[in-house]
Amino acid sequence: MAAILDPKFCSQCGAPMTKRVPEGDHRPRHACSRCGFVHYLDPKVACGSIPESDGRIVLIRRNIEPRLGTWTFPCGFMEVDETVEEAARRETKEETGLAVELTDPLGTFSYSDTWWGGSIVVVAFASRVVGGELCAGTDAGEARLFRTGEIPWGELAFRSSVAALRAWFSRKGIPSPPEA
Ligand SMILES: [Zn+2]
Repeated sequence: MAAILDPKFCSQCGAPMTKRVPEGDHRPRHACSRCGFVHYLDPKVACGSIPESDGRIVLIRRNIEPRLGTWTFPCGFMEVDETVEEAARRETKEETGLAVELTDPLGTFSYSDTWWGGSIVVVAFASRVVGGELCAGTDAGEARLFRTGEIPWGELAFRSSVAALRAWFSRKGIPSPPEA
């Protein structure tokens, strides 16, 4: 596990953290040297949707790192008090301006070899546009509609972008390009 995630000080009492196997546990954890509080590191969960409107789908071009300038479906980190469905709808609205209704789950895609050292879980849905105006929002330099034949497969941001789009195409019975 990368040091980037390691808590340095206890969130309960402020004392330095140590790494040790707490009693009754089976692997090293970040535990407080003074009060014993254990800080469990959790995976990050990101949720999003692939919005469809008249047979076209909305992708956004990222204007932030990582993968600045590449395309993906609207997706972002789930807040602590949301369901995955709420997070997917919120992220879609924030990044595209569109209100959507989720239609189908496209899949759960998870990766343990991230650059920041923790696992990521991506939950993706297909969605249908029910309102709003298409405009690039938070984290998006551009938001636009693509016909199924126009997807920039070679310029997609993440493995999960490719996996979710393939799942969307598969549900529609449309072939997607072979793996590069
Ligand atoms: Zn403490």
